[in-house]
Amino acid sequence: MKIVCIGAAPTGLGAAYRLNELIGEGNEEAKNTQIVFLERESLAGGLSCTITDKEGFLWDMGGHITFHHNQPYYEKATKWAIEDWNDITRNCQVDMNYAYKEEGIHLVPYPAQFAVPLFPQKTKDACLVELKERYDNPPAADEIPGNFDEWVEMHFGPTILKTFFHPYTRKVWTVETKEMSHNWVGTRVAKLPQEKLEELCAMTPEELEIADFGWGPNADFCFPKRGGTGNVWTSMAKKLPQQWFRYNSNVLRVDHEGKKVVYEDKEGVQHEESYDVLLSTSPIDIMIRETQLTDPLNIKYNKVFVVGVGLRKPMTPFLEPITWLYFPDKNVPFFRVTILSRYGEMTPDGDKYWSVMCECARPIEDTDSEEEVTRQAVEGLIYKTMITREAIASVWSITLPYGYPIPTVERDSELTRAHKELEKHSIYSRGRFGGWKYEVSNQDHCFMQGKEFIDRMLFNEPEKMYKTGIIDSKQG
Ligand SMILES: Cc1cc2nc3c(=O)[nH]c(=O)nc-3n(C[C@H](O)[C@H](O)[C@H](O)COP(=O)(O)OP(=O)(O)OC[C@H]3O[C@@H](n4cnc5c(N)ncnc54)[C@H](O)[C@@H]3O)c2cc1C
Repeated sequence: MKIVCIGAAPTGLGAAYRLNELIGEGNEEAKNTQIVFLERESLAGGLSCTITDKEGFLWDMGGHITFHHNQPYYEKATKWAIEDWNDITRNCQVDMNYAYKEEGIHLVPYPAQFAVPLFPQKTKDACLVELKERYDNPPAADEIPGNFDEWVEMHFGPTILKTFFHPYTRKVWTVETKEMSHNWVGTRVAKLPQEKLEELCAMTPEELEIADFGWGPNADFCFPKRGGTGNVWTSMAKKLPQQWFRYNSNVLRVDHEGKKVVYEDKEGVQHEESYDVLLSTSPIDIMIRETQLTDPLNIKYNKVFVVGVGLRKPMTPFLEPITWLYFPDKNVPFFRVTILSRYGEMTPDGDKYWSVMCECARPIEDTDSEEEVTRQAVEGLIYKTMITREAIASVWSITLPYGYPIPTVERDSELTRAHKELEKHSIYSRGRFGGWKYEVSNQDHCFMQGKEFIDRMLFNEPEKMYKTGIIDSKQG
């Protein structure tokens, strides 16, 4: 069997790692499998790459963290790729200044639904009444919400919906809660247990200051000591068989009838590569538009501007213990700011510098330029008292044209329609934008999708991480 993979990022590298592992174990099917990775960039990593700016600061494409212990196979692979990791305890908070009608910044614990005991009195009282109603009469199992808005209202009530979920959803997802389905939620929106709420509400303001707001097992994450997130993927790719990877190879066309792809190299010369099976990690909307295997998909995504600001020390004291902050406030462009220099060696000199990285999401049709959003982000950091203008040593930015795959109400049926046609032609679209399912679109999920793709192709094992929705014994 010959597999061609479009893209050498976590999904593709999950497939490469698994195939290499099986070959190492002497598996005959694996030894008889050829694989080629066509990657348009000059290095592996995709959205999980790291860039060094001209002042020597390192920037990821947005805050990239994973809880390795959630996926032991992924943990084994990433620790094989690089040895030196930092263990970091998550300390993230939400700025809810607008709820207190204050200028600047007002931090409360994250997730905001856990911060109810700290809300202004009127908001707190309304939240408590609504939460109590829901604890006393929990939603019935057959009460299926029609969208995310209804899900939040059903589980938390209208006050938290209005105070946190509406403004925050607009910032990160760039759509209204009503446009989103509730299917992606799973464990991603933490529910507040009644006992925890009662325990927090019984505390004095002083006790609340030091209270454990309950992160549980996901309190610690690891991050490469050096080289940023991208170091994981470039290092892994270097340890895998080099003949598998063709960088600077931009796939221009997929000929699904002839089972071949046409790609262009760095010199602009076109080549053809035939396949038995195609693993595509490029966005599925593009694949469908170009192959015309079915009508264009009604799925939505947004773009993200990442703005990195390198700073001279001393660090702003209130940020010292923080890992990242969320910002529902519409007066600043970012929805999240990561204190990136706390994660690893991400500045030219850790004794002299520190750094923050802003993520600003916009609808794809938004017309603000990268320069304009960068300016707004820097002003926003100053307004929020996180940095001073005088301390700025470097400003860097990038536009990610595909930032977040939005879990809209129509998403799953649209994706199933696409996969039905693609898989008939031996095209498997997986990964963050290949699969388009936010809830399984982090690095660990994507890596596992690549691994499970190989197990499906070689051993007919059902995929567990990604479900196409096609009822098929092979997929489970
Ligand atoms: C703002 C933001 C924040 C994130 N935060 C986190 C986080 O906290 N934790 C986490 O684990 N993950 C996070 N992620 C997700 C992480 O980036 C992805 O999980 C991961 O990069 C997806 O890998 P992938 O292989 O599916 O595809 P991608 O990273 O999208 O890579 C696709 C690859 O395919 C290549 N390609 C595409 N089209 C072609 C073509 N026509 N020809 C040749 N090559 C092509 C691209 O160059 C790229 O290298 C975040 C992502 C973003 C954007």
